[in-house]
Amino acid sequence: MRITDPTDEAIRAAATIIRGGGLVAFPTETVYGLGADALNPIACARIFEAKNRPRFDPLIVHIAQIDQLDDLCTAVDAMARNLAERFWPGPLTLVLGKSDLVPEIVTAGLDTVAVRMPAHAVASRLLEGADTPIAAPSANPFGYISPTTAQHVDEQLGERVDMILDGGQCPVGVESSIVDLTAGRPVLLRAGGVSVEDIEAVVGSVEVSAASPERVLAPGQLRNHYSPRTRLVILASHHSCAPVNERAGLLAFRTPADAEHFSLVEVLSPAGDVREAAANLFSCLHRLDRAGLEIIYAEPVPESGLGRAIMDRLRRAARD
Ligand code: AMP
Ligand code: MG
Repeated sequence: MRITDPTDEAIRAAATIIRGGGLVAFPTETVYGLGADALNPIACARIFEAKNRPRFDPLIVHIAQIDQLDDLCTAVDAMARNLAERFWPGPLTLVLGKSDLVPEIVTAGLDTVAVRMPAHAVASRLLEGADTPIAAPSANPFGYISPTTAQHVDEQLGERVDMILDGGQCPVGVESSIVDLTAGRPVLLRAGGVSVEDIEAVVGSVEVSAASPERVLAPGQLRNHYSPRTRLVILASHHSCAPVNERAGLLAFRTPADAEHFSLVEVLSPAGDVREAAANLFSCLHRLDRAGLEIIYAEPVPESGLGRAIMDRLRRAARD
């Protein structure tokens, strides 16, 4: 059941589903989440089933108030508090030592837990109403393009969720940045909606983690992720050098001069703004992937601010 612009009554119904161990898809400022009661292991197991998500891949726990950190985590130090106070509610996830309250299935057996407070009115109302932390990965089948509209969720997982709350298009459009604070120094596990530059302004320098195939710390670190079904190739620079193909699509950063070479062109940001490009990224990829193309060419975007998160998603989408 998909509910547009949910009223308080609809939010109460969604909160009741969460309390009863069900699944609710809901909008956040990053992407749509597939939510379950984070303290109910059986409910969390349903998330893994619905997404076909491997069990080694831990979930992010969403909270409504900063002080819930102290229930879920051990050793919430000054750096964690500073980051939470600066960026929450917002697209930053903190990885801290886990308390006994958090079920093993949520953290995939790790002794750490990932937590964030989302900045979206529907998400906040749901979290308040459910009165429990909500575990929520992106509401898409594992490895596929993330959902930034309720329609994306409906098309991909519609049958598998008890309710979809439709709050329109996600304004940030890429997943949260994930910072691990358990190593004695901050380590960026995933580039996302808060830029590295902004995080460094609070904590000094941040180490950027390389993907480790042995121990997957974040699914966003898997080499092949966020993938359309159509082959995607990142262009070296401008698309005019692209081989001409009968059914080629172009994911352009700004409005291209020679769109006629392509069967379909999706423009991330006509004026070339990386923030706008991030917000449009997954919707553009969904449309290109549905267009029956043989290949999708993607233009690179400048790798500063949210451009780093965009290029990270494109590189993983481009892997075979
Ligand atoms: P998503 O499926 O986009 O919501 O991704 C959730 C992200 O949080 C994944 O990249 C998870 O692996 C990551 N994550 C969750 N828990 C942990 C943890 N304890 N340590 C490191 N990363 C985590
Ligand atoms: Mg995901």
